[in-house]
Amino acid sequence: MSHPVQLTITRPDDWHLHLRDGAALEAVVGDTARQFARAIIMPNLKPPVTTTEQALAYRERIVAALNKTVGEGVDFTPLMTLYLTDNTPAAEIERAKASGQVFAVKLYPAGATTNSDAGVTDLLGKCAPALTALEKAGMPLLVHGEVTDPAIDVFDREAIFIERVMQPLRRAYPGLKVVFEHITTKEGAEYVRDAEGPIAATITPQHMLYNRNAIFQGGVRPHWYCLPILKREVHRQALVQAATSGSPRFFLGTDSAPHAKGLKEHACGCAGCYTALHAMELYATAFENAGALDKLEGFASHHGPDFYGLPRNTGTLMLVREPFSIPDELPYGNTSIVPLAAGEALPWRVQV
Ligand SMILES: [Zn+2]
Repeated sequence: MSHPVQLTITRPDDWHLHLRDGAALEAVVGDTARQFARAIIMPNLKPPVTTTEQALAYRERIVAALNKTVGEGVDFTPLMTLYLTDNTPAAEIERAKASGQVFAVKLYPAGATTNSDAGVTDLLGKCAPALTALEKAGMPLLVHGEVTDPAIDVFDREAIFIERVMQPLRRAYPGLKVVFEHITTKEGAEYVRDAEGPIAATITPQHMLYNRNAIFQGGVRPHWYCLPILKREVHRQALVQAATSGSPRFFLGTDSAPHAKGLKEHACGCAGCYTALHAMELYATAFENAGALDKLEGFASHHGPDFYGLPRNTGTLMLVREPFSIPDELPYGNTSIVPLAAGEALPWRVQV
């Protein structure tokens, strides 16, 4: 494709999003609703969203925040998830499915990332009833794929997870739909590309655009710190290749994760990049850099709903070739957040 001045695609969805709660939720939900028709909402609140009842209450808070900040009638649907624990009963999965509002269950290995203390300690042992029910319901298990063994190097935790957890899980539940969330490595991309059975992966904009040098350029750069952490250039290239390959197994999931500026710029800074404001601008830049703008629509708008068994959106989103300056900070309750690549300019802008 040469140098188009605009690009119209089916309205996209975000298959991995953190919206938080309360004032933080009100600060960020409008950003996502401007770009995406639907988003899979992560359940790692404090306390985590472990029941259908909690998920439906959280959904109501999201809709109320949207109505308050963007206005009624905005076309955005939150797709809720449950947080898998060692004690999630099969009946909870059945309630989730029956609700028509809960679309997936998230696996956090205990201690893997923000608010994951309640996560799973013994997946194949303690979670057997829930996994059996998920497989039967055809509901995807969304996997944060990193081992938490402190003896494993932080840059190797995804690759080791494939051998230690993903392969045994998928051998035990071959019909279970699994989304390997925010893959960051060549090993992750190749595993998803080649594995048998119902598996897919989401890829974030930061893992397509940056390698780990970004975290250390001229000093420690906390706004480039997320989990799983940015990896070597060879891994970034493998992720770009996967996302732009046209394979229906790879789709968009920003993992946009707002943290107050002071908690990022901190002695023990939080993990997460805020990309909800400019997600499609970031992805369009990454796809264009790879000479693959024609593959953006499949990745952003088709492959996700197809894997989840949901209809594709009917609306459209237009990107225009105009410089988009990423603001230095955005309001966030009574503090602020720093979006990814703050202060830089991107060549594409979403037309609103
Ligand atoms: Zn996440």
